[in-house]
Amino acid sequence: MTQATSRTPDTELSQFRVKGEIPVPMLIGRLTLAAIPILLLFTWRSLERGLTGSAAILVIFAVLLSLNGIAYLASHNSTLQRRGFITIITVLFTYLAVNAVEDGSAIIWLFAYPPIIFYISEARVGVIACAGGLAAVAALFSPLGDMVFDSPYSTSFRLTMLAVLGFEMSTCYVLDQSRRRSKLGLLKLAAEFEYAAKHDALTGLANRREAHEQLEAEYQRYLRNRRPFSVLLMDIDLFKSVNDSYGHHVGDQAIIMVARTLQEQSRKVDTLSRWGGEEYLVLLPETDTSDAVQTANRIRQKIASTPVNADGHSINTTISIGVATIEGSESVDRLLQRADEALYRAKSGGRNQVCEY
Ligand code: GH3
Ligand code: MG
Ligand code: MG
Repeated sequence: MTQATSRTPDTELSQFRVKGEIPVPMLIGRLTLAAIPILLLFTWRSLERGLTGSAAILVIFAVLLSLNGIAYLASHNSTLQRRGFITIITVLFTYLAVNAVEDGSAIIWLFAYPPIIFYISEARVGVIACAGGLAAVAALFSPLGDMVFDSPYSTSFRLTMLAVLGFEMSTCYVLDQSRRRSKLGLLKLAAEFEYAAKHDALTGLANRREAHEQLEAEYQRYLRNRRPFSVLLMDIDLFKSVNDSYGHHVGDQAIIMVARTLQEQSRKVDTLSRWGGEEYLVLLPETDTSDAVQTANRIRQKIASTPVNADGHSINTTISIGVATIEGSESVDRLLQRADEALYRAKSGGRNQVCEY
């Protein structure tokens, strides 16, 4: 049934992108393109200073980043691309810090790590990577780190570096949380607007516009596979007297009750819509006239045998149904016109009955 009664959960919403947001694979691609010339520049500088070992390692990182990019272009596997990129830059930044490249100044590149990690991965991964990174830098700066790596960093540089890096990581976390919340808010709002545009507020059934969309889609399927579909056009009998006798509120309850009965009596593939005030249209895909008439009678009998209870009143309602099945190359408008004529015959024939065109 086309009713979209359930809302999309947060976990699923987070997969969607809001307008203006750079997709993660594209961002990783751009960062890769930016990183390769920078790595080659520092390779050239290392060679000039006779540091061939350092130059070779920087070239290896440039090659690894290129291979990661090529693998993504070939496979379009974004998870693999993201994991590959995170692994390469984590190792690269560790190398820059531990080996005190560029006279120890390359450790400053660590500041690029937190914003990139938070943008391209889940918040949880970002927190773990940043906490691990900060702990690793603290270990490198510890007396134990000095024994193993012989780093050139002064005590005041170490303290400032740790404090500023920790501060930057916390700020990135806060900004990332607020970015994610805003994104979820926007996506939820968009989902609510979409729901409201397609559904009737009183019954939750599809509205007339959505019913037209579904009819058109089913019609296109029919033109391709020639399996006929049917429509049931329904109208509550003598509904004006319900309103006049018990009030508009009770009338609304009756409209809702008929909608619930339709939901109970229909298949998942059927589209149930509120066509007008007290009129409904049911679209039955791949259903011929005899099956459609059978369904219509089942719905009619169920409604006739279920009184509406509202405001202490128990009111018996009935509906009349016009059935039409698509045939030949007639248009959807013509089909609806035939269903309307069948409904008119059901009304003039005494109501609480099903008529086929
Ligand atoms: P018939 O058996 O020929 O269909 O008779 P009827 O009284 O149902 O037909 P009519 O078209 O004269 O009346 C329909 C009534 O439905 C009139 C209108 O006030 C009422 N109606 C339309 N929309 C709503 C609604 O959303 N809520 C309520 N309570 N009444 C509605
Ligand atoms: Mg009517
Ligand atoms: Mg009516």
